[in-house]
Amino acid sequence: MTQKTNFILAIGLLFTSSMLVSCGDDSSSADGDSDGAVSCSGGAVVDGRSIRIATTVAPITNIVANIAADTDAVIEGLVPEGTNSHTFEPPPSAAETLETADIVFINGLVLEEPTKDLALANLAAGATVCELGTQILPESEWIFDFSFPEEGGKPNPHLWTNPPMVKEYAQLVADALSERDPANADTYSSNLERFSAKVDALDVAVRTASETVDTESRKLVTYHDAYAYFAKEYDWTVVGAIQPSSFEEPTPKEIADLILQVKEEGVKAVFGSEVFPSPVLEQIGKEAGVSYIDVLRDDDLLGEPGDAEHTWMGLMRFNYVTMIEALGGDASALKALDVSDVSTDRANYPQ
Ligand SMILES: [Zn+2]
Repeated sequence: MTQKTNFILAIGLLFTSSMLVSCGDDSSSADGDSDGAVSCSGGAVVDGRSIRIATTVAPITNIVANIAADTDAVIEGLVPEGTNSHTFEPPPSAAETLETADIVFINGLVLEEPTKDLALANLAAGATVCELGTQILPESEWIFDFSFPEEGGKPNPHLWTNPPMVKEYAQLVADALSERDPANADTYSSNLERFSAKVDALDVAVRTASETVDTESRKLVTYHDAYAYFAKEYDWTVVGAIQPSSFEEPTPKEIADLILQVKEEGVKAVFGSEVFPSPVLEQIGKEAGVSYIDVLRDDDLLGEPGDAEHTWMGLMRFNYVTMIEALGGDASALKALDVSDVSTDRANYPQ
């Protein structure tokens, strides 16, 4: 009993507010130095040419591509789809993209430090790094948990699994692009309106579909812990995540405790991630007698670039439908959505 309680404490979500990392300095600067360059405002205005944008993970790239649709913006993603973004080290060739970028949009919340460092070392004068998540989420709302423990200094960074937060990302992107590339400000503004309407539709649909799963069944046991902010928004409970912060395998004791917990809490299914195949979670599902679904994906968009579902919204819809149907709910509200981009996505997504 004590062991189990300890484990629940270990894997439960801890809402804490003390972090020493300071990011997102709002003081604007156009000189390209490493402090002033981290800001979503300020920086040099682009005139008489296309704005050059670099981004990190594919969901962020797609959000930016929606806001910059129907402009001549050049958008280069840096993190190849299907790789572990949490441990991603940019190749030396990324420096070339970063040294010509006017603005670099990253998730922040300590997800992409090697890429951020490379950006700060290579940005041209007047270029900036905009940390979306770090800007919109006060430290008092950062979530720490089993995979992202407070002592590790890295909060759970997956804000893009929460649609209302993505609306805030989109607003920030539109504001930053309008300031830096005022010639296209009207287009950024109308794209923001259209994109936000799509996000609202997703938000309504996921609420409707979630409510078809009774509250006691809205429980998530995942391998990769990408749904903390989703769960908080839609009244789900993250019972546990099994992937340690080191990205190594959990200990036999942790596995045994989670099997016990899955049984005792009546969890109906456990969810693995396509990017992180997990024999351990499969074993937990088998031994606890519940189904194991291994297809969730937190930052690898569906299909290929150019496909209608190769969008942030397509990815989120896929995950929500997978979870809700596995738990016996009705996901038809989600299935009825149009998850395509507001216009052609011309960003480059490395594969
Ligand atoms: Zn992740």
